Amino acid sequence: MKHKCDVCEEDFEDIDPNLQTCRQCQRIINKYNNGSKKRKTYPPSEVKWALRNAYSHKENDNVYFKCEYTGIISKFNDNSKTLGHFEEPFVLTLDHKYPNQKELVVCLNIINKMKGDIPPEQFKQIAILLGDFFKQETNKKIEPIKSQTLEMALKDICSLKK
Ligand SMILES: [Zn+2]
Repeated sequence: MKHKCDVCEEDFEDIDPNLQTCRQCQRIINKYNNGSKKRKTYPPSEVKWALRNAYSHKENDNVYFKCEYTGIISKFNDNSKTLGHFEEPFVLTLDHKYPNQKELVVCLNIINKMKGDIPPEQFKQIAILLGDFFKQETNKKIEPIKSQTLEMALKDICSLKK
């Protein structure tokens, strides 16, 4: 039977007439929905929404998505272990866009770990500020006045918490 996947919208064949999601997309949804205690579980409807928004393409039985914050195209990994901060940095993960809200987005592991639970607007401002700071401070000792300026600017951004 021919179906259209409700995530990637690609056609697929399956004998089960009730199937709505292709095998590749379903694998990711299941990964975030199984009862393993180590992993956070997310409702399939929220995961589908995030995947649908980030879908890029399929290739050789793999399904690719775009990182919400960088646009970099990558895929989820199959194993369900929790990744470290600098382990498999380019594997895709799901990120709560805003802390304590339902909305999920697709995000590279390295970006997700750096972002933590910082809201996206503040995360971007902090990253830009730090980037500028690091560019100025190549390998010399950091002048106290520059640290103080950075501190004030960071405190400004963090006081805008919503
Ligand atoms: Zn699909």
